[in-house]
Amino acid sequence: MARPKLRSFKFIVVLISLESIILVFANSQSSEEHAHEVHCSRERSRAAYEIIEEYLIPFVERENYQMSHKCKLHPGNDIFRDQEEHKIHVDVNEWRCGYCKKSFRAEKFLDQHFDNRHYNLLNISQGNCLAELCGALHCDHVLNSVVPKTKCNPAAAARNRHLCESLADSCFPVHQGPSAGRLHELFLRQFCDAHSCTGKFKPFSRGGKKHTNIFYLAMSILILMLLPIFYLIVFLYQREMRKGTQVLRRISKQSLKKKPY
Ligand SMILES: [Zn+2]
Repeated sequence: MARPKLRSFKFIVVLISLESIILVFANSQSSEEHAHEVHCSRERSRAAYEIIEEYLIPFVERENYQMSHKCKLHPGNDIFRDQEEHKIHVDVNEWRCGYCKKSFRAEKFLDQHFDNRHYNLLNISQGNCLAELCGALHCDHVLNSVVPKTKCNPAAAARNRHLCESLADSCFPVHQGPSAGRLHELFLRQFCDAHSCTGKFKPFSRGGKKHTNIFYLAMSILILMLLPIFYLIVFLYQREMRKGTQVLRRISKQSLKKKPY
C-alpha cells in the first residue's frame, strides 16, 4: 500500500516543479515584452514633429542653416521617425504598413501594429523623445483645436519658457554666426514669447510654411486655358459680322444700279 502513495507523492512533486518552471518562463517572457515599452507618446511626438516642420524648418531652410544632431529639435532625434515614414496612407480608410504591407482601417490601428510588431525598429538608442519638447512647442495648441480656457498657471508658463529658451540657446548658439543669431531671435518670438500669462503673445506669430492652395491653382490654369478660346470666339464673331456688312453693301449697290430701269 505504501508504494502507490509514494508514487503519487513523486508525481505531485514533479507536477509542482513543472508548474514553477512554466511560471518562471512566463515571467521572463512578460518582462521581455515590457522591455520594449517606450515611455514616449507617439501622438505628442507626432504633434511636436509637425510643429517643427511647419513653423521652424521653413525659416531654417531659408537661412541655409544646419541644425546640429545635439539639438533636440533635429528631426533625426525622433524615436518614431522611421516608423512614421513607413506609413502609407492609401485611402481615407486605408493605412498600410511600409515594412510588411499589412493594411488597417485607421491610423491608430497601424500605430498599435507598429508598437506590437515593429518595436525593434524604434530609434531608442539615442533616447530622444520629441514629446518631451511639447511644453515648449505648444503641442496642445495644435492637438486640441479648441483650447480649453483654463486658468493660466504662472509656474508652468515659466517652466515652459525656460525649456523654450534653453532649446533656442542649444540649437541656435548666437556665437555661431549671423544666421544662428537670426534663428535664435525668431525661435524666441515664434515659440517662447507666448509662454506667459499676460496673453499678449500668440504662439507661431511669425507664421508657417506657405501652402499653395490647390483650388486657386486649378482656377488659374482653367482661366489660362479658356482665355484663348474666348478670344477666338470674339475674333470669329467679328469676322462674320464684317462679312455680313460687305454682303449687305454689295446688295445695296446692285439694287442702286438696277433702279434706273
Ligand atoms: Zn508591419
